[in-house]
Amino acid sequence: MRYVSTRGRTPPHSFSDAVAVGLAPDGGLFLPESLPDLGARLGGWEGLGYAQLCLEFLRIFADDIPEAELKPLVFGAYERFDAPEVAPLRSLGGRRHVLELFHGPTLAFKDFALQLLGSLYARQCRVRGETINVLGATSGDTGAAAIHGLLGRPGTGIFILYPDGRVSPLQERQMACTGAGNVFALAIDGTFDDAQAALKEIFGDLGFRSRHRLSAVNSINLARVLAQCVYYLYAWLQLPRADRSQAEFVVPTGNFGNVLAGWMLRRMGVPIRRFRVATNQNDILWRFFTTGQYRVGAVLPSLAPSMDIQVASNFERFLYYLLDSDPARVRAAMDEFKTTGLWRSPQGASAWPEFSASRCTDAEIPGIIGRVHREFGYIVDPHTACGFKDSDCAEPSVILATASPAKFPETIRQATGVTPTHPSLEKLMSRPVVKTRISGKPGAIREFVSAHAVG
Ligand SMILES: *Cc1c(COP(=O)(O)O)cnc(C)c1O
Repeated sequence: MRYVSTRGRTPPHSFSDAVAVGLAPDGGLFLPESLPDLGARLGGWEGLGYAQLCLEFLRIFADDIPEAELKPLVFGAYERFDAPEVAPLRSLGGRRHVLELFHGPTLAFKDFALQLLGSLYARQCRVRGETINVLGATSGDTGAAAIHGLLGRPGTGIFILYPDGRVSPLQERQMACTGAGNVFALAIDGTFDDAQAALKEIFGDLGFRSRHRLSAVNSINLARVLAQCVYYLYAWLQLPRADRSQAEFVVPTGNFGNVLAGWMLRRMGVPIRRFRVATNQNDILWRFFTTGQYRVGAVLPSLAPSMDIQVASNFERFLYYLLDSDPARVRAAMDEFKTTGLWRSPQGASAWPEFSASRCTDAEIPGIIGRVHREFGYIVDPHTACGFKDSDCAEPSVILATASPAKFPETIRQATGVTPTHPSLEKLMSRPVVKTRISGKPGAIREFVSAHAVG
């Protein structure tokens, strides 16, 4: 299988090369040259365990990795999950289900992709005899999940910048209490935007970048999208047969990475009826799916911070399919959006009956958490709560639970009177925080990376 850029000005890449590069050199995102039809294989996949199903799925895409290497890599990626099913599907009664995606090491769904990406990077280092230094900025979940994906892996170093005092104490501990020698939690004196700006400058220095074999952590890596397809498939195969083609998947959404993966699986012939894009008060995608206009707005910090985005970076992949896989049209749309802050779909909002959207404000989130607790005896985190807005129990539905409530004890306590905990978080509280306070200036960050990079 070959991978092409949404912008059409990059030669096709192999799976491993596309994963290693991340962003395509022309600024676009990688996608498979054509999508396979999985319809005929679904019957043979009934009853498979999570890692085996992931292997069966990925071998179609990662066809340049020998099977004997792919298998331990995939199984290794999911062995640190604390539920035997990896992604348990829980029934809340009736035809409503919750797909729990928070049993990985950092208790949020990003572990599904970043544990696998960590294994893929480590293989790259081994096979090519190279080292890799991952550098990223985070406002919370992504940094922690990336760190736990690379923790202790030979040949790799990981440097995560975050605004000192502005990520939650639990998130900071997930980054700064690992005890691993290849992990550097850098608490910068500045905001998340300062960290982003510093990174942009550092990645723009091509000499520095290649000297230290720097790679970015971000939500656009092809491997992340493919890893996320698997839990939709796994959940779909657990549903009662009569419900499968009727099911709606409800997806708490920020960068559009998660829901895009489900939609791509549908394009591969898995009959999913539709998706609901559930946003918080940062509602660019809700506005798009209700009006057909994709218009940038200001970010409002919310109780569901991992969905606080202004521009959904994976949206470009969706655009590619909307625009008949025509890279010239994608380039024109992205240019228009960049210069005017607006892109209007030529088909209006009604062109995708397989999508609906909802929006949930901070004023609504605690009430929803309380209601779900009373009605179902089940506790949801603030991101997942957005999926319960307008939820309908007559239709078969699968609501994706993207984080453990234990990551947000204060919001949950106020909404339900219960304080959720998790053994891995309790363990963190007894470990020393090892972080480096550093100025947010590119020079200081560069110096630190030079002094600590592997290789
Ligand atoms: C990242 C994240 C989301 C949003 O996922 P996208 O792929 O950006 O749409 C939702 N919930 C949680 C807990 C997250 O960490």
